Amino acid sequence: MRYDGMIYRPPSEARSLIVQVTVGCAHNACTFCTMYKDKKFYIRPKEEILADFEEAYERYKGAIDRIFLADGDALTIPTEDMLEILAFIKERFPHARITSYGAPKDVLNKTPQELKAIADAGLSMIYMGAESGDDEVLRRICKGVTANEIVRAGQLLKEAGFQLSLTLISGLGGRERRKEHAICSAKLVTKIKPDYLGFLTLMLDDAAPIMKSIREGTLKLLKPDDVVEEMLLFLNEVDSDGTVFRANHASNYVPLKGTLNADKKSLIDLLKKVRKENGYRPESFRAL
Ligand code: SF4
Repeated sequence: MRYDGMIYRPPSEARSLIVQVTVGCAHNACTFCTMYKDKKFYIRPKEEILADFEEAYERYKGAIDRIFLADGDALTIPTEDMLEILAFIKERFPHARITSYGAPKDVLNKTPQELKAIADAGLSMIYMGAESGDDEVLRRICKGVTANEIVRAGQLLKEAGFQLSLTLISGLGGRERRKEHAICSAKLVTKIKPDYLGFLTLMLDDAAPIMKSIREGTLKLLKPDDVVEEMLLFLNEVDSDGTVFRANHASNYVPLKGTLNADKKSLIDLLKKVRKENGYRPESFRAL
């Protein structure tokens, strides 16, 4: 099997068979992201993808129960080819869960019928990075879509039958827009009601384009107390019953997990307790 460059995958795909169906990210412009900056985007030839799955089948047979289609956005693959790839995978690994990243723009480029056909063919969950629900933050980070477009993409995925795992990033608005970032992100989640919501905290690589704004002082990073304030605003505003909520990534100052809306009060109480006791995860223990 061939891998081109560094492979990124969601934490929950740590034990998955990972096959690159695309290399890099078609958008590749978000200013906080360095994941695929060294890769020129392309869709791998279908024959190569099928050969990788055939090889995995010969090697692992029934041992595979999860498959992740890397890299950045498998939904850029033309629908006809995607359906052929999924049929090939399902024939060899009928019980495996198949997932991928999906950028909002690529979701919007498919028709509802195409999305349903892909979901019916076995791609069961999409990880979509929303990052923020605030249009100004989305503009500043060059996300390439508006909050309304992200909402539409999330709703289309759910209507098509996908499970949806959405990601937001605390601190992306800096100190200046932390309130708007929190409230608008809560509104975005309320409109989409994803199955899963991951809330990371901004951590930066020196090579990230956003570092320029930080060095110039136009983007001021949040301190742990600000991150808590932002999260409290978010939790007070959000209404997304049944969404599994996780902010327990290594980047988070306060690990949180629960289910919305049932656990909102206990999550808020925990945040206030940690803030009072200054019990944040030390900076040296935070990692990506
Ligand atoms: S955050 Fe996602 S969409 Fe943006 S450049 Fe990185 S991989 Fe591409």
